[in-house]
Amino acid sequence: MTVSVVLFTADLRLHDQPALRAALDGSSAVVPLFVRDRAVQAAGFAAPNRLAFLADCLRDLDAGLRERGGRLVVRHGDVVQEVCSVVTEAAADEVHMAADVSAYAHGREDRLRSALRAQGCRLHVHDTVTTVIAPGIVTPASSDHFAIFTPYFRRWSEQRLRDVLPAPRRVRVPDGVGSLPVPTRPDLSGVSPGLPTGGETQARERLAAWLREDVAAYADRHDDLPGDATSRLSPHLHFGTLSPVELVHRARRAGGPGAEAFVRQLAWRDFHRQVLAARPEAAAGDYRTRHDRWRTEAEAHDDIAAWKEGRTGYPVVDAAMRQLRHEGWMHNRGRLLTASFLAKTLYVDWRVGARHFLDLLVDGDLANNQLNWQWVAGTGTDTRPHRVLNPIAQAKRYDPDGTYVRRWVPELAGLDGPAVHQPWKLRGAERALYDAYPDPVVDLAEGLARFRRARGRD
Ligand SMILES: Cc1cc2nc3c(=O)[nH]c(=O)nc-3n(C[C@H](O)[C@H](O)[C@H](O)COP(=O)(O)OP(=O)(O)OC[C@H]3O[C@@H](n4cnc5c(N)ncnc54)[C@H](O)[C@@H]3O)c2cc1C
Repeated sequence: MTVSVVLFTADLRLHDQPALRAALDGSSAVVPLFVRDRAVQAAGFAAPNRLAFLADCLRDLDAGLRERGGRLVVRHGDVVQEVCSVVTEAAADEVHMAADVSAYAHGREDRLRSALRAQGCRLHVHDTVTTVIAPGIVTPASSDHFAIFTPYFRRWSEQRLRDVLPAPRRVRVPDGVGSLPVPTRPDLSGVSPGLPTGGETQARERLAAWLREDVAAYADRHDDLPGDATSRLSPHLHFGTLSPVELVHRARRAGGPGAEAFVRQLAWRDFHRQVLAARPEAAAGDYRTRHDRWRTEAEAHDDIAAWKEGRTGYPVVDAAMRQLRHEGWMHNRGRLLTASFLAKTLYVDWRVGARHFLDLLVDGDLANNQLNWQWVAGTGTDTRPHRVLNPIAQAKRYDPDGTYVRRWVPELAGLDGPAVHQPWKLRGAERALYDAYPDPVVDLAEGLARFRRARGRD
């Protein structure tokens, strides 16, 4: 009798799950294992919003396994040690897991492979579990990865996708493998009140509704801040409660310009992953240095605090920052304009902003967060690295009536229409009505001039 262990990481699902499928095909019994990895906590990545969402995901995964005759085994500690002891307890011959891209994931895989080898157990690492196309499969002639999205996307689109795998009907777990209780949404402080619910069941319902009702309008509406017309599938993709391969198959089947635009965004996700896989150091340092001498945290202390709290005096920036705090999620247009405001207008190191996002985002993801921040800061893969987004122009374009701002900045809710975007223009008694709202922390022209000087663009 062959026994396999499936180590779940960022692939917390039963549908289209190549690691689980391979384990089931080759074995008579399987241990579905999740390790609450102490190293992830120690590195500061266990943010309350993601821990709460993770707990939902694990409970749902456990419930799905129980419906099929199995259960989830949960451990806590050093991931390599825990996998090795489960292998011993179950007398397992093989371990299956998904490939991942960060330096930590590469190190984990190497450590696991050699520890398991010493126990006479094989490690199988599966591609296309957390990406549509594995990093390194499409490369330009002269490099190990694409640094520009458009040619990457062309080649990515030509690749043949693997077929979608059905969820297993039965999962037989061997007796005698100990487990901690499956965590519930922990009673943590700092969980955003509007945090969405995690888990594969929720994810599949959301996906079905998205494809049925909303994807058709995505090409036209994805930048509409008040319309909130994007998929909100990012947390599910981050925790792997949805398969990106299945998403692309189903979106292509739905067809039309909206679905095509949506698939293009999924390719952005793969694009950043293939950059990080090839350049893991880009998680912490400039992918392309512009020789910035960012204002230090001490120099910019008050500006950084105002940005984090949503009190910069630029209503659209503040609305987006407050959405982040309330929901643990922010609209992509909000992410672009708040990141540009911090890194360029305030000229603060992108890592300060990236850290704050990772502290709060339920979809906070090393590849997507760090490389999008670098894209905005102009140290990444943007082909126009010195462009600066003007928050007033952005507000007028993407929140023309001011609805988004009024939703998130109640102090300004009494201001009708686009006037809400520039409260500093009010005079006298009218301004006094809104004095709970701060004046701008920076003059946009001065911010722009400082940035252009710093980048030698005068
Ligand atoms: C400064 C900054 C930080 C970001 N941090 C993260 C992060 O930590 N985690 C994260 O998942 N996304 C991040 N993004 C990318 C993007 O903003 C979110 O993926 C998107 O807003 C999630 O909402 P949605 O699921 O409704 O997206 P949709 O518009 O419905 O897109 C579908 C999916 O495509 C992917 N996607 C969309 N836009 C991008 C993009 N620019 N780069 C990579 N993948 C993309 C996501 O997986 C998303 O769920 C960041 C963007 C910026 C500008």
